[in-house]
Amino acid sequence: MNTAYKFRMYPTKQQEAQLYLTLETCRHLYNLALADRKNAYEVEGISRSYEDQAAMLTAEKKEGNFKGVFSQVLQDVLRRLDKSFKAFFRRVKAGEKPGYPRFKGQGWYKSFTYPQVGFKLDGLKLTLSKIGSIRIFKHREVEGRIKTCTIKKDHLGRWYAILVTEIEDVSQIEPKTAIGVDVGLKSLVALSTGKTIQYPKYYIKDETKLAVAQRDLSRKKKGSSNRRKAKIKVARLHQKIQSHRDEFLHQVSSKIVDSADLIVFENLNISGMLKNHHLAKHIQDHAWGRLIQFTQSKAAKAGKVVELVDARYTSQKCSQCGIMVPKTLADRTHLCPNCGLEMDRDVNAALNIVTLGLRGRACREIGTPTQ
Ligand SMILES: [Zn+2]
Repeated sequence: MNTAYKFRMYPTKQQEAQLYLTLETCRHLYNLALADRKNAYEVEGISRSYEDQAAMLTAEKKEGNFKGVFSQVLQDVLRRLDKSFKAFFRRVKAGEKPGYPRFKGQGWYKSFTYPQVGFKLDGLKLTLSKIGSIRIFKHREVEGRIKTCTIKKDHLGRWYAILVTEIEDVSQIEPKTAIGVDVGLKSLVALSTGKTIQYPKYYIKDETKLAVAQRDLSRKKKGSSNRRKAKIKVARLHQKIQSHRDEFLHQVSSKIVDSADLIVFENLNISGMLKNHHLAKHIQDHAWGRLIQFTQSKAAKAGKVVELVDARYTSQKCSQCGIMVPKTLADRTHLCPNCGLEMDRDVNAALNIVTLGLRGRACREIGTPTQ
């Protein structure tokens, strides 16, 4: 299984100049190699392969060209071009009308890759061959063997390192314990154990700031420098919210995976259409998708199982006796007139969800509220 880690980099002025130089050299090579393919085909009727062009690159390097950029990074440029040609021909064959691979103008080549070697992660520094040791913000520990390292610049001029690691697949364990997770109305999630997890306070604060920044932006004149500034502000806030949210969701998913072998989620793709489309809800749905994604990848590493179930009626049904107890969104408590069960409505739903996930399984030890 592959995992990608994205870390912000803080290069010095000198390192940044070197990063730009690398991007420009790669872009230059990409365009040259593209022109060569085009030319070889149009003039001589020859199709160039990756191997042909890699050999040409070696010859160029011997002549002293493309200095200052690690050789495998350059080879990766040729591999990228090869990939886009292969995709192009595949689509032609399929009867589509794809665009011919394009030349990259200035600013349109945004990343380069160390495919195997030439980089080293050491504490809070990432050392790149021909560039130097760059300080990074490492917000997560890197697990597994690092396969590739891609350096990327975003539209705000910030630099990132994307490390892809490989972890051997863990064989699945036979689940002995199970937990159900429901989207809460007020909280982020409700668990079948009776626990609810709230959004951290900063989450709400960030959202408010974003709403203000977006309103500011909408009032700025089109094409003005103030509008450009306001746009950057909104983009920065978006990024900040995203990284805060991911950090929080990583913590929550760790807790969930630690708590049981079988984890059952509501499948929002099925039941989502029943929910209202209020903005807050939209944000929550997005967080929900990320949470499931994080939980799935952590569970896979631990050999645990994640299941998504159709959660329609789970908030109405009594988790103890099974009768329908209609509720409005305002009803916070599930109170069953048949069996007398009284509990948080979301916890009741989480219990129904875990029951759905357990159908046809031998596992009977359910994480239930201790009351
Ligand atoms: Zn009941």
